[in-house]
Amino acid sequence: QEDDFKKVISHAKEYGYVFQSSEIYDGLSAVYDYAQNGAELKKNIREYWWKAMVQLNDNIVGLDSAIFMHPTVWKASGHVDAFNDPLIDNKDSKKRYRADVLVEDYTAKIEAKIDKEVAKAEKRFGDAFDKKQFLETNPRVVGYQEQINTILKRLGKSLENEDLVDVKNLIEELEIACPLSGSRNWTDVKQFNLMFGTKLGASADSAMDLYLRPETAQGIFVNFLNVQKSGRMKIPFGIAQVGKAFRNEIVARQFIFRQREFEQMEMQFFIRPGSQKEWYETWKEKRMAWHLSLGMGPENYRFHDHEKLAHYADAAADIEFKFPFGFKELEGIHSRTDFDLGSHEKYSGKKLQYFDPELNESYVPYVVETSIGLDRMFLAVFSNSLVEEELDNNTTRTVLKLPAVLAPMKAAVLPLVKKDGLPELAQEIIDDLKWDFNVVYDEKDAVGRRYRRQDANGTPFCITVDHQSLEDKTVTIRHRDTMEQQRVAISEVKAIIHKEVDM
Ligand code: ATP
Repeated sequence: QEDDFKKVISHAKEYGYVFQSSEIYDGLSAVYDYAQNGAELKKNIREYWWKAMVQLNDNIVGLDSAIFMHPTVWKASGHVDAFNDPLIDNKDSKKRYRADVLVEDYTAKIEAKIDKEVAKAEKRFGDAFDKKQFLETNPRVVGYQEQINTILKRLGKSLENEDLVDVKNLIEELEIACPLSGSRNWTDVKQFNLMFGTKLGASADSAMDLYLRPETAQGIFVNFLNVQKSGRMKIPFGIAQVGKAFRNEIVARQFIFRQREFEQMEMQFFIRPGSQKEWYETWKEKRMAWHLSLGMGPENYRFHDHEKLAHYADAAADIEFKFPFGFKELEGIHSRTDFDLGSHEKYSGKKLQYFDPELNESYVPYVVETSIGLDRMFLAVFSNSLVEEELDNNTTRTVLKLPAVLAPMKAAVLPLVKKDGLPELAQEIIDDLKWDFNVVYDEKDAVGRRYRRQDANGTPFCITVDHQSLEDKTVTIRHRDTMEQQRVAISEVKAIIHKEVDM
């Protein structure tokens, strides 16, 4: 697993997807830059989300609010008081951990034991193996599962009650039961606020302390009435936004999974009080359907319903994805009640109510939110797509099987040789296609090597121009995943690509 993840990181670098920020200065930890291909993949994910959320829903509109916000916003939202991570230091290794993440690392160790049992049983029973039944009935597996649940329940309870002493005790007990850090010398657990501070204004005495926003959602809440009125929106309706968020994450690791500067794609859906259960279920389903539409395999997703709820929520679930380091949160769906709007009413002194013409009454709407990290989605797509394939002739190829709609380059146009007018015809084809898609030209090396290069880059189509092309205006089109080649008229190429890559 660790090796797979290393491959993902090095592939992302080698093929111009993701680089460490400020690399020539030895990098900045947990900050990353998206390069020529990465920027395209990220843009395509963003657009795929925007289209599904804003364009296809009559009652959802977009917003692009500022990163800087009035500092009182973060008091009202609870971030000043409650946006904390519990930290613990190991006195021997001098390493700092997020206490809750550390506990999850222990449970992941137990999960790995379950995986081992499953693999063993699978081998033993072959085709007759029923995984679901095995997970539910095998006493050892059931025992492990109970262990995990007990640990997480206790963690949730102690964090909720701010019983940081018990969190420390839990870590000490776990270290004895299944050693992980190799050291038992811990400090007490302390709370640490995750917001980045900055200053607005030049002179020291008039400068105002601000925060870089830790989530995009608050920009939506403070604009709720402006959008509702100017757009004459009727409840239920949603406001969607994509933008940067900043968190001073302490345990910054796992590549772009947890960064200090990242992008969120959030949607707040405003509803009648009392209808939140229904809308919460609807959005859970809709969001899962969006993920599955990319064809990355239903077995790689699962819901995780929260028992421990944040101060603003009355129900919450994560959509978890199977990353190379295990199932982890990719998206959150939260029923936020009227917490945010109600709180902004209190702090601002302005009414944030909606007059419901059908009920003939005014109220503070309830909110169901969907919130997904764009960078996490990038990692999900990228890591899931990278495969090492055994071919019939005993060789292997590295393929980045990105969903075609998301691939940075849709086609590569390759003249078989660098003479006889083939490059010129290839260029003509590019000039025609480039108004519709990103296409790339490549004439270097034997055509087989060029195919491999495009496979590794995730390009779904290779269009090869040969001598026959000059005579009958046809080319071969090679499909990345099947490696099948078809001879088609040049005039058909555009439609063939459109069919696969259009959102
Ligand atoms: P985690 O528990 O992993 O820290 P969270 O529960 O704090 O995440 P939310 O506040 O619900 O996350 O944020 C919504 C989404 O934003 C998450 O599902 C995730 O995809 C993304 N996200 C949150 N923090 C980061 C980060 N540091 N780097 C990249 N993406 C992030």
